[in-house]
Amino acid sequence: MGPESYYDILGVARNASEKEIRKAYRDLARKYHPDVCKDPGAEEKFKKINEAYSVLSDPQKRAQYDRMGHDAFSRASKGSYTGGGGFSDFHADFAGFGDIFDSFFGGGFTGSRQSYGPRRGADLLQKICITLEDAVFGTEQEIELVHSETCPDCDGTGSATKRLSACATCGGTGQMRQVSQTIFGRFVRMSTCTACGGRGKMPEVRCRTCGGTGHTRVRRTVNVHVPPGVDTGTRLRMEGYGEAGDYGAPNGDLFIEIEVAPHKRFVRHGDDLETTLEITPSQAVLGSTVEIETIDGRTISLNVPAGVQHNTGLRIPGEGVRWRGRPGDLLVRVKIVVPTHLTSEQRELYRRLLEIEGGVHPQSRRRKGFFFQDVVDKVKESVK
Ligand SMILES: [Zn+2]
Ligand SMILES: [Zn+2]
Repeated sequence: MGPESYYDILGVARNASEKEIRKAYRDLARKYHPDVCKDPGAEEKFKKINEAYSVLSDPQKRAQYDRMGHDAFSRASKGSYTGGGGFSDFHADFAGFGDIFDSFFGGGFTGSRQSYGPRRGADLLQKICITLEDAVFGTEQEIELVHSETCPDCDGTGSATKRLSACATCGGTGQMRQVSQTIFGRFVRMSTCTACGGRGKMPEVRCRTCGGTGHTRVRRTVNVHVPPGVDTGTRLRMEGYGEAGDYGAPNGDLFIEIEVAPHKRFVRHGDDLETTLEITPSQAVLGSTVEIETIDGRTISLNVPAGVQHNTGLRIPGEGVRWRGRPGDLLVRVKIVVPTHLTSEQRELYRRLLEIEGGVHPQSRRRKGFFFQDVVDKVKESVK
């Protein structure tokens, strides 16, 4: 049984519009979401649906997919997604075009490269900043990207005839022997051929468009599918979107590093969200029911219990980040705010309360000639 095509997975026709694809994806994702669907194969199916959508929703990737066919495409450029922190083999090699160019024409000699033959393209890293809502629910983002692509005129060969001939300098091996005479004797060192950059081949007739490199520099608008649940530091990997590889070698990857902007009302701790609730002293003493707005804009009522203390966290289960099997919680941090502007009625009631509690009102203190309070009041006046 051959693998299903991405069109089959989403159940759409080959010529389906972007809108139809989006709708099919939404319907299927809702149906097979692991939180909802408890069938044994649901998670696998959900993954496939996401993979299909990540390709077909991106015009550039879709065109590539149509051209290459399913097997070749999924081998060459399957998009994948790595969670924050878990990724280890990122190549911080941004030498890219300049390096290839230099070594191709014998200008640069890095000497550090150990591998011979066609080289994989360099990886690229781009950061994007998204809102907390987008991080929680996922989003589509368009980014501007400048990278090298296979030269369309020579199909990446660098040769106008699309044919390559063996490098005359190294005889096609891609390596050069360097012999040096020192006081310790003769040393023979193998190094990368400076004429062909280690490829062992040279363009038969240098392509005018790309100057023989096989690559052209282009600016692209790329559609990034940000899945729900990402956090600051998460890296999304878009395979094949980095710099173009040498002729016959794969492209590098594009890594999208997520930064989540601070939110006005919510702070995220893993899958939990925290928000602040300001209440009055009487609400704290007597308890009350308040309205809390959730991250997705719904309003839910929360019972603040009588006698709640300042800084208490009240937990609302399941209203945090919802992207895996168990959703996070919403933590409501209670702040008791002492009113500074009172109506005369409120002032009277507070005064009554203070009397009942056995305290003494500042005015009665002054009448008794309480010296210290008197000084404090005068200081306050002079500050005003
Ligand atoms: Zn050579
Ligand atoms: Zn070319």
